[in-house]
Amino acid sequence: MGAATHYDVIVIGGGVVGTAVLRTLSRYQLKAALLEKAAEVGWGATKANSGIVHAGFHNKPGSWMARLCVAGNRMYDQLCEELDVPFIRNGVMMVARTPEEEKILRDFYQQGLENGVPDMELLDGDAARRLEPNLSEEITLVLRAPSGGIVAPFELAAALAENAAANGADVYTEVEVAAISHGDDGFIVTSKDGGTWKGTYVVNAAGLFADDLARMCGLDAPSLIPRKGEEYILDQRLGDLVKHTIFPVPTPKSKGILVIPTAEGNIMIGPTALELPYKDDAATTAAGLNEILSFTQGLVPKISRRDIIASFAGIRAGSPAGDFIFETSHTGKAVHLLGIESPGLTAAPAIAEHVLQMLREAGLPLEEKPDFNPRRPEVIRFKQLSDGEKEAVIKENPLYAHVVCRCETITEGEIVDAIRRGARTVDGVKFRTRAGMGRCQGGFCTPYVVRILARELGVSPLEITKRGKGSELLTADAKLYLKGGETDA
Ligand SMILES: Cc1cc2nc3c(=O)[nH]c(=O)nc-3n(C[C@H](O)[C@H](O)[C@H](O)COP(=O)(O)OP(=O)(O)OC[C@H]3O[C@@H](n4cnc5c(N)ncnc54)[C@H](O)[C@@H]3O)c2cc1C
Repeated sequence: MGAATHYDVIVIGGGVVGTAVLRTLSRYQLKAALLEKAAEVGWGATKANSGIVHAGFHNKPGSWMARLCVAGNRMYDQLCEELDVPFIRNGVMMVARTPEEEKILRDFYQQGLENGVPDMELLDGDAARRLEPNLSEEITLVLRAPSGGIVAPFELAAALAENAAANGADVYTEVEVAAISHGDDGFIVTSKDGGTWKGTYVVNAAGLFADDLARMCGLDAPSLIPRKGEEYILDQRLGDLVKHTIFPVPTPKSKGILVIPTAEGNIMIGPTALELPYKDDAATTAAGLNEILSFTQGLVPKISRRDIIASFAGIRAGSPAGDFIFETSHTGKAVHLLGIESPGLTAAPAIAEHVLQMLREAGLPLEEKPDFNPRRPEVIRFKQLSDGEKEAVIKENPLYAHVVCRCETITEGEIVDAIRRGARTVDGVKFRTRAGMGRCQGGFCTPYVVRILARELGVSPLEITKRGKGSELLTADAKLYLKGGETDA
């Protein structure tokens, strides 16, 4: 456990930012650990966002958001290639439908030029519709930025953590940090259930809760503003409705409601932007759905309510400054990342480099590891293989012949691989492999996934949870059923 090791750096929070910081640290000869309160990494805002790698024209020139968004965007090709994470530069379009919106859109074009966004162009409505035939006839002007992309955000965080661990970092889950103290021997980080971790430097990447953690370090941190965003996923049948991510001109509070192709091949619509007085309301609502539908149908009229197969909501760690906030305490030995709202996913790799620089300036010795391996073993995505490749994979491992999730064609081989890479829960398997993400939403495959998890982890199916302690899927009554021999569960 952590108590035995004195870490050079302890990262708190296993979202895309914390895992990017951890992986960056794992390039150096030092001991780094990540503490995450959930059962797996990536379950905060990281798994509940739009998955857009923004081009960088949305943010004010000179702001951290603008600089780190454009810098992060540039890092994505190499990062996702090394980690075998789905990433597509599908391009983004901001669309205008009135003379007022056209004026705002031209301002964003200028802002993008100042921010260094490459290859942007302005298109009239007809030219845009030649690229995107399903765009509304009302659209008159479009700002197109081909550098915008889409990524699988949860997979990215999981891959960053996996690669960091392969390079010697320690990842602890189900560790909720409850106190941080500092003495002659550095920091002592104490979890809610009494575990302790010692370290010389601390990076607070706790997302929506980073203000609470900063206060544990004695900092008079500004309160973050929880801002909920609901998103709705459409059936894969509509996967080619648009290729670009379609933005309206933004509102003062958010980038507006969008039509978003996902890296997995669905179309997603959303998000809303609703400020909350508390941090834990991730419910979707009829009002949110209606707002999203009526707005996105104005951008792409073919969108229909009956194509919605799933919904979720994420909560942004809204910044009271309107920009990312980098604070330090303990003479720079604790770095606090506050207000990492959108474009936090895009900026994450660049934020990690910035944090590294802050730690270096605070005295952390950074000597590169000669044997750092930036690559993680390739993930077999069975559905995407040619027939010949499928045959070869099955010959090597017959578990790939057993399709467990029929909607998404996910095999037992992929599920076992996900578990060997760190999945511990049904949701962990789902977000890594997509088993359970199709039209039936796990109605068919969940019992199989439970059984495979139990077998691979060497535990009873009764211990398998949906998303960590307290979300066990089988009740004690299931014991009789399980004892009775087989189960299809
Ligand atoms: C609806 C929505 C849409 C968005 N769309 C985009 C987009 O398209 N593109 C983009 O660039 N950005 C987008 N964002 C923003 C992006 O999702 C975030 O900026 C990014 O995920 C922040 O990552 P993070 O690691 O800072 O936070 P999180 O992913 O929230 O990670 C913080 C982690 O800290 C853990 N934690 C908290 N407290 C403790 C504790 N006490 N002890 C231990 N662990 C703790 C949490 O469990 C969590 O896993 C969107 C956000 C939302 C909500």
